[in-house]
Amino acid sequence: MTEQLLAPATSRTAMQCLLDPRSVAVIGASRTSGSLGRRVFDALESGGFAGAIYPVNAQATEIGGRRCYASARDLPPGVDLAVIAVPSAHVLAAADDALAAGVRSLVVITAGFAETGPVGAELQRQLAAKVTAAGARMVGPNCLGLINTKSRVNASFSPVFPPRGRVALSSQSGALGLTILELARDRGLGLSTFVSIGNKANVSSNDLLEYWENDAETAVVTLYLESFGNPRKFAELARRIGRTKPIIAVKSGRTRAGVRAASSHTAALAASDEVVDALFESAGVIRADTIDEMFDIASAVSMQSLPAGRHIAIVTNAGGPGILAVDACERGGLKVSEFTRATRATLKSFLNEAASVGNPVDMVASAGADAYRRAIETVLSADEIDAVIVIYTPVDPAQSGMILDGIRAGIAGARATGNVKPVVACLMTDGARPEPLVVGGERVPVYVFPENAARALSKVTRYAEWRHGNFGPATRFSDVQTAQARALCASVIAARGDDWLRPDELRQLLAAYGIAITPGVAVRSADVAAERANELGYPVVAKLTSPSLVHKSDVDGVRVGLGNDEELRAAFADLMRVAQTLSLADAAVLLQPMVGRGIEMMVGVANDPLFGAVVGFGRGGTDVEIERDVHFRVAPLVDRDADALIRQSRALPRLLGYRGRPPADVPALRELLLRVSQLVTDVPAIVEMDLNPVMALPVGEGCAIVDARVRLASDVLRSTAGGRGQPAGSAS
Ligand code: ADP
Ligand code: MG
Repeated sequence: MTEQLLAPATSRTAMQCLLDPRSVAVIGASRTSGSLGRRVFDALESGGFAGAIYPVNAQATEIGGRRCYASARDLPPGVDLAVIAVPSAHVLAAADDALAAGVRSLVVITAGFAETGPVGAELQRQLAAKVTAAGARMVGPNCLGLINTKSRVNASFSPVFPPRGRVALSSQSGALGLTILELARDRGLGLSTFVSIGNKANVSSNDLLEYWENDAETAVVTLYLESFGNPRKFAELARRIGRTKPIIAVKSGRTRAGVRAASSHTAALAASDEVVDALFESAGVIRADTIDEMFDIASAVSMQSLPAGRHIAIVTNAGGPGILAVDACERGGLKVSEFTRATRATLKSFLNEAASVGNPVDMVASAGADAYRRAIETVLSADEIDAVIVIYTPVDPAQSGMILDGIRAGIAGARATGNVKPVVACLMTDGARPEPLVVGGERVPVYVFPENAARALSKVTRYAEWRHGNFGPATRFSDVQTAQARALCASVIAARGDDWLRPDELRQLLAAYGIAITPGVAVRSADVAAERANELGYPVVAKLTSPSLVHKSDVDGVRVGLGNDEELRAAFADLMRVAQTLSLADAAVLLQPMVGRGIEMMVGVANDPLFGAVVGFGRGGTDVEIERDVHFRVAPLVDRDADALIRQSRALPRLLGYRGRPPADVPALRELLLRVSQLVTDVPAIVEMDLNPVMALPVGEGCAIVDARVRLASDVLRSTAGGRGQPAGSAS
């Protein structure tokens, strides 16, 4: 401890100096109250910061009783942090001065940078370059500042100082930051650090994640995000950190514009916010729809332990709120199932006649403190229950105090026996935003409505399942020929530029990764067609193909189940007529053996402007855009991503076998997903892929890919019209 205090300042990293400073200069602190600089100075003073505070202002010799420095160059050496709140035209000079004096880190509050246009963006680039050159770190520009509750640093212009706690919070919006801080304070949610990251010219949310990973004060991370600088890095960090510290994020902009009109099924389906969901889901990030919900969830994970399963007991004194809670639980995937006979008998032994001893336990309006105490103790101790929601609707407000005591006593009684199951409460005691219920050293989160409690609990449960899951790495197949696959793509691009692969190229590319497609032969005359069909063996399928034809069924270009020569010749003539009507160039007919008994699924790849390659899986066929059963994961997939994709599909019951039909070869589908993921990860020129349909055959027979399309692009960035989807100047 002593050693740590005596250690020279330089042994701390610039990030530590930034987020936990021991001395702070305020550049632009002025004597005029209300100016930004003065507000920061006042906030720092009134927050109770114990370290040194240095106001910097050329126009003053003293501010708030402290000696004022004319220039940051005059500061004593080794100041941890300088907050810059001067007009944008002076920011670069102020940064120069501070960095020259050896200041380790900056918070630049001033706006007027990349958010204003190209001139501001250039200014921001220069500012960031100075910070990097000096080996310093910087939050902002264009931000609210930061707060550290442990060392009581309020280096922001927020007048609100949140209570100390274990939740770290980062906000991309400064304006929302103020509201968020008020919300945290009103809810009694304790924060460790708050950072308004502004334009992210130097420090990004990813940097903060890395800092919080090792910050002993932080147990839960909450993020308000508007854009991702580097989503892959985010996913990688989140997946690692989320195993010990839950990460809850609100990502605004749930609908995404600017995604290129897509010609493959997969790209059309991926052009939505679902990819963000996919990223969060596989990285274990808890996604909240609103800031309020983010705090609902943060309260639950920071105050209570994680549930061991999905079984919830509800204890209430009113039917309506109980039903609301049941519905919200079930919507969120939780189970409000019947109690065992023993639990029911115990409940019956002390509850009155009118009470229901089912789940929810509806103790009716007459329930007193003792009923609450014993009911809570009983359900918390029941083996079949993983978590409890307590609901109290006042009948006689004069009783509320006693009833709350009963609720506390019930929880305390269970805790005394070593029970750690999570409890959340919905106490409709008055209109105000409820404070957590204090039970000994524990705090029980209290929600305004039963749905809030249920929804928070369901998201926490999903997170707990993710965290308890197996984190095995991705299976890597060694029987693949990466160099060959890359060379093939390079030669196609050299010859034709960005294009769809032709059938023989497709077959070769997939074969290099151990993925076989159902063989087919292209024919151009009825006689040759008949000959080849005989060799393949009836029944066969005939498909019209042409480089200019995208979806064959759309033009009635697929004939299945052709059983003999006669049917084949008729189909051939038909398809040729279609080709003529449409004046298709280079039309041919592709013959394939008919795959009889499969379940039609699809595996696809799209290239997301932000996330890069995403792999999709779901029900296949010609109507996938209507069925909308396709879910995504960001490549490369780990094994559990592949499992999750298969589990998520609405076709799962069919794949597992139903009504006497044989179950499908799910391991083969899983292998296909992982091979496709490895292929597109190793060969980035593949920007779009549809394997549709993939016929899932009975166990042991694998799957048959009867239709495949792959598009290559030489420059992944150019192939997406939406740009990088982040404000100019975002660093990472
Ligand atoms: P497209 O997607 O261009 O319309 P497909 O080759 O996917 O053409 O064929 C459309 C539909 O025809 C498939 O979804 C499937 O139902 C059926 N089909 C195609 N080829 C076969 C085959 N070899 N065996 C069985 N059914 C097939
Ligand atoms: Mg198809």
